[in-house]
Amino acid sequence: MHPLLQKAGRILDLERRQGFADRAVIGGIDAFVARWRAEARGQLGDDVVDAVADRLDGYAALGAGARRERVAAVVALIAAQDGAADRHETAATETVPEPAGAAQAVRVDDDPGLDQPVTRLRGIGDKAAVKLRELGIFTIRDLLYHPPSRYKDFSAQSPINQLRPGEDTTIIGTVWDVRAKRLPNRRSMLTVILSDASGTIACSFFNQPFLEREFRQGAQIVVSGKVEVWAGRLVFRAPEWEHLDQDLIHTGRVVPIYPLTQGVTQRWLRKHIRRAVDAWADRVGDPLPAELRRRAGVVPLPAALRALHVPPGPPELEAARRRLAFDELLVLQLWLRQRRRAARARPGIPLAEGRGVLDAVAAALPFALTGAQRRCIDEIAADLAQSVPMTRLLQGDVGSGKTAVAAAAVAVCVSAGHQAAIMAPTEILAEQHFAGLKRLLEPLGYRPFDATLPVEAQLLAEGYCLARLVGSLRPAEKAATAAAIGAGAVDLVVGTHAVIQASVQFQRLGLAVVDEQHRFGVLQRAELQVKGADGESRVPHMLIMTATPIPRTLAQVLSADLDQSIIDELPPGRKPIATRWLRPHERERAYQYVRHRVTQGEQAYIVCPLIEDSDAIASRAAVAEFERLSAEVFPDLRLGLLHGRLRPVEKEAVMAEFYAGRVDILVSTSVIEVGVDVPNATVMLIDGADRFGLAQLHQFRGRVGRGPAESVCLLLADDPSDAAAARLRLMTETGDGLKLAERDLELRGPGDYFGVRQSGIVDRFRFARLAPGEALALAQKVAGEIMADDPDLAGRDLAALGARVAAFSLAAERV
Ligand code: ADP
Ligand code: MG
Repeated sequence: MHPLLQKAGRILDLERRQGFADRAVIGGIDAFVARWRAEARGQLGDDVVDAVADRLDGYAALGAGARRERVAAVVALIAAQDGAADRHETAATETVPEPAGAAQAVRVDDDPGLDQPVTRLRGIGDKAAVKLRELGIFTIRDLLYHPPSRYKDFSAQSPINQLRPGEDTTIIGTVWDVRAKRLPNRRSMLTVILSDASGTIACSFFNQPFLEREFRQGAQIVVSGKVEVWAGRLVFRAPEWEHLDQDLIHTGRVVPIYPLTQGVTQRWLRKHIRRAVDAWADRVGDPLPAELRRRAGVVPLPAALRALHVPPGPPELEAARRRLAFDELLVLQLWLRQRRRAARARPGIPLAEGRGVLDAVAAALPFALTGAQRRCIDEIAADLAQSVPMTRLLQGDVGSGKTAVAAAAVAVCVSAGHQAAIMAPTEILAEQHFAGLKRLLEPLGYRPFDATLPVEAQLLAEGYCLARLVGSLRPAEKAATAAAIGAGAVDLVVGTHAVIQASVQFQRLGLAVVDEQHRFGVLQRAELQVKGADGESRVPHMLIMTATPIPRTLAQVLSADLDQSIIDELPPGRKPIATRWLRPHERERAYQYVRHRVTQGEQAYIVCPLIEDSDAIASRAAVAEFERLSAEVFPDLRLGLLHGRLRPVEKEAVMAEFYAGRVDILVSTSVIEVGVDVPNATVMLIDGADRFGLAQLHQFRGRVGRGPAESVCLLLADDPSDAAAARLRLMTETGDGLKLAERDLELRGPGDYFGVRQSGIVDRFRFARLAPGEALALAQKVAGEIMADDPDLAGRDLAALGARVAAFSLAAERV
């Protein structure tokens, strides 16, 4: 649009927002129109100039109603000029007219130019491009999708003499005087005195001496910010400002505040994003057909992007965010539904004959199953009987008894004549699962694998064979185990994900149990299913266990892909774990408490602070801490050390000592968080507790409280941030894993739950992470309707949406 038209439009917009009080420009609209007419003559067509200027003639004398009508008419006229200029540009692409209300046609396909590097934009050079990369901005499209972290509302305008301290306000004034002052340490201050018809005010700017030439006397300046009281007078300190005769970007409206990085200023980024929006937002294709937009009640994508950065007001901003969150959630929903559909379309392995074993399993357990455990077992057994492959998530808080449920599922599969696998994320946990399952299943005729027997003998042996497959096995033993699994001589294998996936071809795998602890494994799943397919390429059933209760909203998201069973009841007799947050000066008390419990014959864990997310560094720190505790604090007690850099046999040895009660205190890095189960351990001391997330703290705490004695969790934090303090307080307030998980989701967003923090997928949820449940429900509903109609998204109108889902799928499954 021509700058002069833009300028007139801007002034009239300001006038409208000020209630047609004729205060939008100094001297009034009439004076402005006179100047504008003179300036525009020769630059714009005479008819346009007259059409604008004549309509505003004699504005000061008009009543409020007439002013409103005139302004509206001119604004419409300017908009029409704009449309006329643009029309020939968009005509080349297929367009869908927007029904009722929307002025602009919306294109379906993206302009390929959107994926050009940002350096193609005026004013962004190579240097700036390098800095923008740190914000994840590479292309023009990335600029459009860089979301403001918040906004400032500067739309309230005030005469200078009515400014009130502490409120975000905009004034328009004429530069009266400018004074530069040097301050100590090579700093400087510029004081600009602005005046309007009502009074004057000082604005100070710091360390920007070059601004002096911007504030020429008589220039009209718009200033937005909070006015403050300074030495008894009102001033603006470092306000946002700009010239009135430029496009208003930083002042006078709802202004976006962007996340920045070193070397990128708010003003610079705002200016360039605004330019990109003006030139490119309308060249973004909308993957949602107009009919779908209407059903979902969302605004067109270009409008949403425009309003995200240049919101006319709060309702438009709300609509923009709603649309952008909806897009993310819809694509996610469609992806999950397509995966599920594809997974279920493949032939499964009905294991109905195995169900008869369940009574024997229940009888063999050393305890009575809780109602919740029984319900989950029934749900799983019903799935296993089907010829559709199961993909089920078993959720249960720490200590809720997931192992017994997994054991029952495994027994069903093995009794039906198929192999089963249980995969754990760490070697320690795999060993523990192996030991636990051996205990539970021995009464049912399971015997451990004996690598010394030839395969033929294995195949003929009585009962079922249970093997473990972990990295620490001797190579020969590993090879023998893998061969026996391949020959079908092993019925149940317990091991780490990595080892099982790398070394085994199953003969007749019927069920894979994946113990994910606190990842959902949505993404890892597909690979396992392919890998696990037997010779007839049927797909084994899959049971995923997670110890982190999943917040309801996310559970809902995942239900598009996974069925869910929830153990929502703890075994009877569990005592709550008293949790105390100790101040730094109470460290001695904490140690004394540990000593006290140990002298009662109980055991304790001490978790070392998380120095960095590096195994090597954490391990070194743990060694030092172990030495300090052994020499200075507990010289008379038996301490053990566990960290990620120990060789597997060493880990195993120290765990065995701890299980056997020959180690009093186990000093550990965060490797201990996974489901270690030693009922005699009653104290968990977490040092540097402020460094851990809620889910992790809750996992640590779950290591105690597994026996009959009262257990305690002590949290030590040297200097917690506000956020960390909030986490620690929450830990002392509740033992309910679901409550903690819901808070964790609020505090950290959904990235962790998808197990994809590093993969870039998290970035795809920029808008949805803050979306209310309503947006999710809408996305689910619409995704359901789309899938019912056109599950492959093959129709022409859905092609663009299908392409987005395919792109998402590529990104998600590459990890
Ligand atoms: P998690 O769900 O954390 O994996 P586990 O399966 O390790 O929990 O079980 C925790 C503890 O509770 C174990 O010591 C187990 O033997 C015990 N347990 C499990 N189910 C019951 C039950 N129904 N009654 C009593 N104890 C149980
Ligand atoms: Mg467990």
